[in-house]
Amino acid sequence: MTEDGQRFSIAIIGGGIAGACLAGGLARHPGIKIDIYEATEAFAEIGAGISVWKRTLDLLKKLGMEEHFMKISTFPKKDAANLAFHFRKSDQEHGQTFHTWELEGGMTTFHRAQFLDALVKALPAGCAHFEKKCVSYNQDQSQGLVSIQFEDGTTAVADAVIACDGIGSVIRGQMYREEAKKHSDDSFLEYVHPIWSGRLAYRVVFPSAKLKEVSPSHRNLTTPHMYCGKNAHILAYPVIQGTAIGLVAYNSDFTKEGTSLVKADLPIPSREDLKSHYAGWEQDVQDILEKCAGSPPRWAVLSLKPLPFYVRDRVALFGDAAHATTPHQGSGAGLGVEDAFMLSRLLGDPSVNKQNLPIALLAYERARLPRTHHVMKGSRQCGFIFEFNGAPGDNLELVGREIEVLTEWITTTDPEEDVASALSWMKEQQSLAKVWTGTKFYDQQEVGGNILGFDPITMGLGWWLWLL
Ligand SMILES: Cc1cc2nc3c(=O)[nH]c(=O)nc-3n(C[C@H](O)[C@H](O)[C@H](O)COP(=O)(O)OP(=O)(O)OC[C@H]3O[C@@H](n4cnc5c(N)ncnc54)[C@H](O)[C@@H]3O)c2cc1C
Repeated sequence: MTEDGQRFSIAIIGGGIAGACLAGGLARHPGIKIDIYEATEAFAEIGAGISVWKRTLDLLKKLGMEEHFMKISTFPKKDAANLAFHFRKSDQEHGQTFHTWELEGGMTTFHRAQFLDALVKALPAGCAHFEKKCVSYNQDQSQGLVSIQFEDGTTAVADAVIACDGIGSVIRGQMYREEAKKHSDDSFLEYVHPIWSGRLAYRVVFPSAKLKEVSPSHRNLTTPHMYCGKNAHILAYPVIQGTAIGLVAYNSDFTKEGTSLVKADLPIPSREDLKSHYAGWEQDVQDILEKCAGSPPRWAVLSLKPLPFYVRDRVALFGDAAHATTPHQGSGAGLGVEDAFMLSRLLGDPSVNKQNLPIALLAYERARLPRTHHVMKGSRQCGFIFEFNGAPGDNLELVGREIEVLTEWITTTDPEEDVASALSWMKEQQSLAKVWTGTKFYDQQEVGGNILGFDPITMGLGWWLWLL
């Protein structure tokens, strides 16, 4: 510990939801110097909606952010407190509700910009550095430090680096390229770039008043709905205390899953292109698309192949940089919050110091890797079944049952229990491993080598098996 009480320093690369939440969580623990390096000129999110489950809200409360979030949350209505979505078969003239998905606490929705703002309010003053685009890092084993290089030619050092730089993470790219080189194994390169799901998404938030004018009793004015059809689905839900509606409209070509996205082969994004995917769908869908959605921006839905590791020594992948998932369980940002809850509790433990930091990072990886893989896999399957391309086909009763099974983890697993078990593992390793001898620095082999007990190459194959 330094004279001013500093235990160690953490550099967070990227100030999105995951990076900001981690910084806010770490700030609650004394002695941790925190710096966020963000590539853009300010904290910023896109103009779309976002939903979270009760488990995420509970963690935000535990991270001391309740006050900021309560003001901007749109909770389920009191008479439907556990509602997530009503599912409708909508690719027909008269749609039908075929499943009501409920879970404890239901779904709470936000405007994305407000969500990020609430996280930023919890940051310590002066920790954010803007227009700092990280281009590479170096681990100095002899000093136990990581240096970071930025595009503007400047550098920074920290005792550990947490990569929150999103799905296109530069740090993940470097980490996996180095691994490929070290093992002369090109299979690690498959984790460098995200892959395309074969799906495109139009996203927008529009005023509820617009919808009310067109259709005064439209079901989306009060409740979230998922409109499902063959090869396409739409979700729409009230946000900003019901004054606006968040809309995401997906269309898919699963034969393209895993291929490179060739923009030139796609139709130009337009209102006409958007509407063309829902021709013949029920009136409620037409009302939204025709009269309210305008000409929203379009995104390609990308994800990562589940990575075999998230940590190398003093560098950890985090949030979407580690486990970007398809969005069909509304959980990507929630997983980032869970990462932040886990890592801030581990690093905040008084037993963690500059020397044994790598063990805390391994404890984070050990806890989060299987959890996040499970969600990535389930989310991908939800994408299929919402569009009647999964095992249940268009057997609506089975689709409903499958939704319940795939999303069960949301209420049956407990982040607090995961933290307790990660803390206990970390302390056990701290007492076993000779992490700092005074002459020799920490070596991962000394705390158990392949701690996860599986081999990265098999994991890669496993992922492809899910595809079949
Ligand atoms: C269509 C869609 C709908 C979704 N809906 C939901 C939902 O309802 N609920 C939910 O929980 N999740 C949802 N998600 C997922 C969620 O949006 C992401 O998981 C989440 O935003 C990821 O946050 P992040 O901070 O990890 O990454 P990002 O949001 O990508 O943030 C990364 C940050 O790092 C910065 N950065 C990038 N590179 C560098 C660099 N080299 N140096 C410095 N800074 C850098 C970026 O500027 C950015 O600020 C959805 C995703 C999609 C695509």
